[in-house]
Parts: sequence; structure tokens; C-alpha cells
Amino acid sequence: MVRDSRLTGWLKQQRRQLVDRLAAGRQPGSASGGDVDRVRQQYLVSEQRFRALLESLPKVAVQGYDRDRRVIYWNEASTRLYGYTQEEALGCLLEDLIIPGPMRAGVIQAHRDWVEHGKEIPAEEIELRHSSGEPVPVFSHHVMLKEHTDDPLMFCVDVDLSDQKRAHRELDFATRFDRLTQLLNRHGFEEQLDLALAECRVHATSLVLVYLDIDHFVEINDALGYEQGDRLLVELAQRLNGSRRASDILSRLSGDEFVIAFPGVQGLQDMAHLVRKVASVMQAPFLLDGRRSKLSACLGIATFPGNGETASELIRNADVAKNRAKLAGQGEVVYFNQPLHDELLHQHRLSDRLERAVEAGELLLHYQPQVSAISGHIENLEALLRWMPPEGPPVSPAEFIPLAERSGLIHRIGDWVLESACRQRSLWRDAGLELQRIDINMSGRQIKRSGVFEDFEACVARHGLGPRDIGIELTENVLIEADDAILGGLRRLHARGFRIAIDDFGTGYSSLSYLKHFPVTALKVDRTFVRDAPNQPEDRAIMEATVFIGHRLGLEVVAEGVENREQLELVREMRCDLVQGFYFFRPMAAEEIERLLAGMVPGSGSLSS
Ligand code: C2E
Ligand code: MG
Ligand code: MG
Repeated sequence: MVRDSRLTGWLKQQRRQLVDRLAAGRQPGSASGGDVDRVRQQYLVSEQRFRALLESLPKVAVQGYDRDRRVIYWNEASTRLYGYTQEEALGCLLEDLIIPGPMRAGVIQAHRDWVEHGKEIPAEEIELRHSSGEPVPVFSHHVMLKEHTDDPLMFCVDVDLSDQKRAHRELDFATRFDRLTQLLNRHGFEEQLDLALAECRVHATSLVLVYLDIDHFVEINDALGYEQGDRLLVELAQRLNGSRRASDILSRLSGDEFVIAFPGVQGLQDMAHLVRKVASVMQAPFLLDGRRSKLSACLGIATFPGNGETASELIRNADVAKNRAKLAGQGEVVYFNQPLHDELLHQHRLSDRLERAVEAGELLLHYQPQVSAISGHIENLEALLRWMPPEGPPVSPAEFIPLAERSGLIHRIGDWVLESACRQRSLWRDAGLELQRIDINMSGRQIKRSGVFEDFEACVARHGLGPRDIGIELTENVLIEADDAILGGLRRLHARGFRIAIDDFGTGYSSLSYLKHFPVTALKVDRTFVRDAPNQPEDRAIMEATVFIGHRLGLEVVAEGVENREQLELVREMRCDLVQGFYFFRPMAAEEIERLLAGMVPGSGSLSS
């Protein structure tokens, strides 16, 4: 209080001087005694306002210091900001109170320069010290009063920046870190990875990037709920964090995707070790919903300098490798390489174009006849999908069907195929063309859609057709992987008289003993057997056995891919029922089929002689 009264004293002195100046300047007629009183009054009011203002600003700490930098004024906000009460602060030296050690000499010098040479201390953002020793970020203004007297006073007006700094830190955290796992997010990781890459360049070392993606995480999330999913992510983050060296950079890029950068790698030996180390974090079971569950993850690996120059390039390429690993199965590890990337890029573009192709009507069906091995008469047609992009060459279904399977587009395509085949079949029937049946191909994902067989039957019925008009071809693997619901659906179709063929027989599990369990009516022996049987006794033996058992089970046997006379002779000898292949007919557009069925065009193959 003693010191505080110095400020009050100083303010009083200022007021006296002002009043004296006014009184001294008062000339006859220039100002009256009333004027002086009014000015005095105004001054008093303004002084009170000034003090009230200083005291009332909660966030503006004001301190006054004398020539020796001893505290002469200390407001409430200063107490709040720096932790010293007014009593504690008054009389103390500025540098002993709130100036951190390393700044002491500079502060003393700056104060001296101002007092002695009039060199102002600019306003600035600085970090001062709380009584507890904690840093206090402030924006500090400095005002010198009575500058050129023996008693100069420095006032510091400090605005507390803690909230701003905290908000800034929080914002920085949110933009660079993942809230759930507290690991770097993509943005923060890219920043640090670029720095690490610069280091690698300087020291001519390599860097390995491992991209990790938990297998079936979506299913875990769906089945057990987000809380369990989150817990799993945190647990994995801790495991990865625990196994890394200080210089390794770890991040959760998104969802269940983590990435770890290992800078300073020397050789291939090192790399294999690192990959094993990352893979090993999945070894111990995870506690999910109170139960210990074994999980796996796919890894994609990219290296610097081989697989990319920048952080984003390396991350992208490790991601490409990881996606490839996912396609290969659970717990797979794939190293990035350029041809692989080009292939994926091609597939990605194709997949994109296919989506538009379906809408733009660029798909059409061709039909390949199956002829009787004995009479050469056309018995059925197989509908084969064609994609004719206007801007390029036709794309083979062998290439685009797997893509459509992956993207789920197969359902729309499959619906379109069924609809088109049914429409064509009823048109030909109305035109009086003699024809048994059109078979359509169905892929694995297609038949997993619930209600697929009901939809199939409904479509057939909508076109006024029945079981003798439209059949189905499924590959052996699709049948073996089919669950009870699918087999039940197929059994219903079979019981109603629909024809169901096993396609490409001999390329999958090829287990003849399975045959009796499947509700099928025909076997299509894969064309690789037809191709190789004339010269390979083993293929010939397998094919003969297949035809024999097929017949014993009451199935029709179709030989696929018959291209020449020799093959035809062989399949006839083996007593195949139907023959399909270029030797007779290639897949053809509907108009060509019409001309063929109307007897205007002969088949290229012949059974005579
Ligand atoms: P797939 O069902 O086994 O069809 C027979 C394939 O063999 C067709 O190829 C056909 O053009 C070809 N082929 C027929 N005769 C011969 C021959 O004598 N020699 C040779 N080298 N090849 C012959 P394509 O049309 O390229 O179809 C390939 C595969 O694409 C089909 O094999 C089928 O699995 C799939 N596919 C075609 N259309 C559809 C469809 O509408 N839906 C589904 N899910 N898959 C389809
Ligand atoms: Mg087929
Ligand atoms: Mg086939």
C-alpha cells in the first residue's frame, strides 16, 4: 500500500501541476475561477475513471515500476495473472518477480536504455513467469511516464494470452492429431514424414513405410458396436506405440488404417525385420466384448527412395500395396511395385468407366449356340455379356465381371442380363423361331443377394416364360461356397424344372463326389480339358471319368471350347451330349442368331463324314 500511494501521489502531483498551469495561464478575461473548478472537477472524474478502469479489467494486468524497476503499482488482474498479491509484489524488483531467468539481463538492459537514452521498448508477445514457476504468455505494452525526470515510471499493461494459446494448442492438436488414439493424423504424419525424408536425403539412408489395415474391422464395428471398435483401435495404437523407436513415426490415417514410417533403414534385412515387428503386434488376442479374440491385419509396404519421393506419394503407394494385400486375403503382406500399381490404376479406371457404361447402354448380349453332339442341331444358347465402349476396343467379360463383382455393380449388370435374355427369348418365341433355351451366367456375389432366385423366377414369369426357356450357369466354386439358403433356393428352382449347369467344371475343386449334393442338371467340362485331352492322357482320363459320372448322376454333359475336328471327334467318342465352341459357332449378336435359326446361315462346323 505504501508503494501504491506513490502512484496516487504521482497522480495528485500531475493534477496539481495541471491546475497550477491553468491558474498561471489565467489572464484577465481568459478564464474564470469557475473554469478552473470545472477543469479540476473533470480531472478528478477522469482520474477516478482511469483507476476504476485499471482495476476492473479482469484480463488486463497493469504494473507500475519506478526507476529501479521496483513495483509501485499492481492491480487485481496482475495478482490473478502472476500469482503474487499486491502486498507481496509491491517493492519487489521486476526481474525477481515475473521475468524468467534467461530474460533477466535483457529486460534490465532494455529498461536502462529507455530511462537513459529514451529508447522505447516495443509492445510484444512474451512468456513471463507465474509465482509457481509456470510460464505465462502475455501481450505486453510498455508506457513510460515522466520520462525525462529523475523519477521515471514504467507501466506495463499485460494482456493474458493463456486462453488464446490454449485454443491455439487445441486447434493445432485437432489439425495434427487423432483425438481417439492421440496419434498423428494424416496431416500431422505427412508433415513429419516429409521432414524425415529430408533427413534421409541428407544422410543417404532409406525409409520404410508400413501401412496396416485391420481385417474385417467393419464387421467388428457392426457386430459389437462403435465403443468396442474404438477400444480395439486404442489398444492397437498402444501396441504399435510401444514397439516403436523414438525416431519412428506412427499415425492413424483413418478408420482402422495405421501407418508407421521407419527412417534410417540400411538394407533389406532391416526391412524384413521391421515388417515382422509390425505384424507381431497382432499376435496377442484382443479383448473384445469381454472375450479374447484373435485378429489379423493386412500390410502394404513402400520404401524410399524406390517407391516415391514425397510423403503423399509414399503413403499412396503403401496404400496401393495394402489394397492388393486385402484382395489376397487376411493377414497378407504386399510390397509395392510399379506394374502392380499400373494394373490397379487400370482396373480402377475400368471400374469407373463400367459404371457409366451400364447407364449409357454400352452393354449387350451375344449368344453362343450349344449343339447336339450327335445331330449337330442347335439345342440352346448361352448368353454372353459384351461391353463395346464407343471410344475403344471391346472389353472382355473375363476382365470386367471380376471388377463388377468387387464394386457390387454386378447386381445391376446381372439384373440387366436376365431382363435382356428374357425379353429376347420371348421375342424369338413370338417370332416362331425354334429354340430350346437361353442360359445365363451368374457369379458368386450375384447369388448371395437375398431373394435373388425369387427375383429370377418373377422376371421369367413376367415375360410369359417358364423353366424350359431360361437356365442358369454357375461355377463349381460358387456352388461349393454356397450356404444352405442359396442351395435351398437352387433346389426350389431345380424342383420346378429349371435347368442349372455347373460351368467350367474341372477348374475348381473338381470333386466328383460333391456332384450328387448339388441341385444341377448339366455339367460343362472346361475348355482346358477339351484342349488338352487329345494329347494328355491324364486330362483325357479325368474327362472320361467326368462324363461317365455325370451320366450316372443323370446329368447332361456339355463340352466347352471345341475348336477343331479332332476335339469334336474326341468329345463325341466320350459321349458328351452337347458341344459348344468356335468349331461350330462363335458368340453372335441377336440378329445373326435370328438369321441362323431361320436357316439362312449354315454353322461353320459340320458333323458329316
Ligand atoms: P463362360 O461362362 O465359361 O463362357 C464361355 C467362354 O468361352 C466365353 O468367353 C466364350 O466366348 C468362350 N468360348 C466359347 N467357345 C470357345 C472356343 O471354342 N474357344 C475359346 N478359346 N473360347 C471359347 P467370354 O464371352 O469371353 O466370357 C468369359 C466369361 O465371362 C464367361 O465364361 C463367364 O464366366 C463370364 N460371363 C460372360 N457373360 C456373363 C454374364 O452375363 N454374367 C456373368 N456373371 N458372367 C458372365
Ligand atoms: Mg458360362
Ligand atoms: Mg465356361
